[in-house]
Amino acid sequence: MSVFLDFLRPRRRLQPNTLQSNNEEKAQRKNKAHKENGLHGTLPPVCVPSVTERRPPRTPTVCLASGTERKALKGRSKTKQPKEKSYFPFQRLPLDCKLKVFMFLNMIDKGRSAQVCTEWQDLLKMPSLWVDVDFTLFPLCFNANTGHTCNRDCYEQYQIRVKASMKHLAAISPVMKRFCFAFDIGDFADGWLNSVEDLILHSNFRDLTCVYLNWKETPVKPFWIEQVQYKWEKYNDYVYRHRRRGRCFVNFFDLFTSQASNIKCLALPFYWNERSVRNMARLRNLEVLILEKDYVFQIINQSHLNELLLNLPKLRKLVLEVWIPERLWPYEMTSESLQHLDISQCRGFCLKKVNMPNLETFRVTLFPTGDSSILIPDTFPCLHDVLVQGAPELKSINGLKLPNDWKLEISPQMESLYRTVCPCIRHKPSQLA
Ligand SMILES: [Zn+2]
Ligand SMILES: [Zn+2]
Repeated sequence: MSVFLDFLRPRRRLQPNTLQSNNEEKAQRKNKAHKENGLHGTLPPVCVPSVTERRPPRTPTVCLASGTERKALKGRSKTKQPKEKSYFPFQRLPLDCKLKVFMFLNMIDKGRSAQVCTEWQDLLKMPSLWVDVDFTLFPLCFNANTGHTCNRDCYEQYQIRVKASMKHLAAISPVMKRFCFAFDIGDFADGWLNSVEDLILHSNFRDLTCVYLNWKETPVKPFWIEQVQYKWEKYNDYVYRHRRRGRCFVNFFDLFTSQASNIKCLALPFYWNERSVRNMARLRNLEVLILEKDYVFQIINQSHLNELLLNLPKLRKLVLEVWIPERLWPYEMTSESLQHLDISQCRGFCLKKVNMPNLETFRVTLFPTGDSSILIPDTFPCLHDVLVQGAPELKSINGLKLPNDWKLEISPQMESLYRTVCPCIRHKPSQLA
């Protein structure tokens, strides 16, 4: 299949060597004209359809046509068109084969391919080709490796490219299986929220299974664009923007969960409130859930945690990141289905009781950031007792394989581990005792 992929890198394969220098100059001029067309910004010199179609490469390439087609080509090559045997007959492949070839390309390469010729453009409008939609692949700038220094225009062109891609996808109603993005939906000036919602409304999420929704930030956006100056006087502005972004998320998540109820794997920063927890309950088939912190500090209600776990009956793995300010807070967790629990990224979050009969692996830390200034009351039960009572099938803690009799006796390795992760008065780290 690498032959196919090599063929689809027209920069090397489709461009005849003899024409390259002339065409590069021509293509650079065309790139300038195409720059504002949106989908892919600076087009490589290869995106000049007329060259690729009119002038096949002289170097022979591997022919993947059928036996009949090969004979036909061979016959013709001896008589009328001797040079045609070196031409890769992609256009003669059956439709299914062509689509299969395009399936191996990522989003950006598909977009480039759609600009090669009208046939490829039409093929790439097939909804089934867009099963993996990942907007995190888009770079800020395609010229970053050429010594060019990015400026504000690069981000504007990035926005144009990405939004044109969203519009293009919305028009063809892609049948997605995987969907990823990282845009600050609370940044109204950039307008990501409208574009993403429009795409969601026009997509087919029937087969969607894996999703990453980073709605709290646009990592590609250079920090110097906004010229943010963190001053105490602006604290209220930060809080207002944070809350506005949270409200946007609640509405957005309502829309998303109403469209994508079959997903099995979901990762996102989570804004804990009654409505977002209730909407999460629509995802009854969820098996893997990764909830990152939405901002910096947030206290979550025990009732929200209970409702979340109760309404996800197939959940096998949960990774939780919650940062609670000032002190350690005790929580209970109950799940019949959960096999893997990771709270090692939580700060200020501690378990006082669990009821997880199928839990097998557990990850936990006391100070994920190394900051041990958090207040730990002396009333916490020992983590060992909590696990013995509520997780009888446990097999490992932080990668340490538990001995068969772990419920009866604490081994030296376990004791050493508890001294770093257990908040009870016996195991509490010495600097906090
Ligand atoms: Zn740039
Ligand atoms: Zn302990």
